[in-house]
Amino acid sequence: MAKKIRFFFRRTNLNRYTITYLTALLDEHLPDFFELKIVDGFGELYKELSLNSEFISVVGYSLGVWEFKKHLEEISQLKRSFKDKVIIISGGPQASGLPEEILDRGADLVFIGEAEESLLSFLKDFYHSLELPSERIIKPQPLQDFNSYPPFAYKRGIFSPIELRRGCENKCFFCQTPYLFPQIRERDLDYVKKYANLLKEQGKKDLFFLLPDGLSYKQKNKGVNITYLEKFLKELSEEGFNLCWGYFPSEVFPTRVVNTPQVAKVLKKYVQNKKISLGCQTGSPRILELINRDHTLEDVRKAVKVLREEGFQVIVDIILGFPQEELSDRWQTLNFIKDLAQNYQAKFNLHYFIRLPQTPFFKLKPTPIEEEIKDEIYSLMKKGIAFGNFFKQLKTAFGNNKNEA
Ligand code: SF4
Repeated sequence: MAKKIRFFFRRTNLNRYTITYLTALLDEHLPDFFELKIVDGFGELYKELSLNSEFISVVGYSLGVWEFKKHLEEISQLKRSFKDKVIIISGGPQASGLPEEILDRGADLVFIGEAEESLLSFLKDFYHSLELPSERIIKPQPLQDFNSYPPFAYKRGIFSPIELRRGCENKCFFCQTPYLFPQIRERDLDYVKKYANLLKEQGKKDLFFLLPDGLSYKQKNKGVNITYLEKFLKELSEEGFNLCWGYFPSEVFPTRVVNTPQVAKVLKKYVQNKKISLGCQTGSPRILELINRDHTLEDVRKAVKVLREEGFQVIVDIILGFPQEELSDRWQTLNFIKDLAQNYQAKFNLHYFIRLPQTPFFKLKPTPIEEEIKDEIYSLMKKGIAFGNFFKQLKTAFGNNKNEA
């Protein structure tokens, strides 16, 4: 190697899990290749790049839908300022869906799909040759055993929820997960124990897990693999860990609770979280079908009831503004919210529909929200029944112009 290479990850509040996973990956697989640093602010990154001209610098961006424009602007600015002295690589959901746009703004390479192996392979080649590949859109390479990649950078004291499952069998038309990760991958109890014990060595006993469909673990059909789940939770509890399951950053699909209601008792017995997140998305049966949710409103009601009976505070996820959603659909949703709040003390995390690349709904426009609906949402938020980033997301989608979204 002719020159020392420094690798910077640009971390934000929204990509911090991914940056943790990738940092752990590079620490474990390429420990001597780079001086790796995580930077949280653009100003800090710019300063670092300005100070160290004797190094070759590689900057990694993981791009999601939030702050996408801001991060594209950062990429452009870095390229304008530092030209070929800085190599900018990017990945993440937006990179997978809109690679050309990111290249046009100044990135040197875009990694699409699952990037563990493609990133390692690129960095090894670059370390030895200091040359970029001619193909600027880097396709995924087959992953090794999913249990062979670390879940967090424990040597640096940087932790994230353990990604227990990647992908989702459901195919909701607004959600990127099944389209980004068509192959379901899972990690095993032994893997979790190994890394949980590393946490314990650092005095940490709280375990959080990432599963897009929170009760799908080790299960192929629409129920719950209660035997494996109970064994998993029991053994980790007995080793002294505090477990969080079925709550952020995961949520539970209603039919899993309806088909296997005894899961509520199992969770009650072993987990520390008092809240469970339940996916529902709309209170309109017509929209439920349109967005390809494979459950009914009655399933949602039953799941909320079962979980509530075990004492959980159920947080129901709702999106408003879906394509083709009408005023009557929105009123149905708000009435459903009020009904579940009154009968089961449920609370609601409200979102505004955002178009995500690679999903069937990417090219469809969100629908504007009427003033009467906004007033009702304000009222629900004021009463503490609803919360969330709905208004912020609405503003992001439309700006000041209703035709922008
Ligand atoms: S169940 Fe959740 S993770 Fe799965 S496709 Fe639907 S919204 Fe996405």
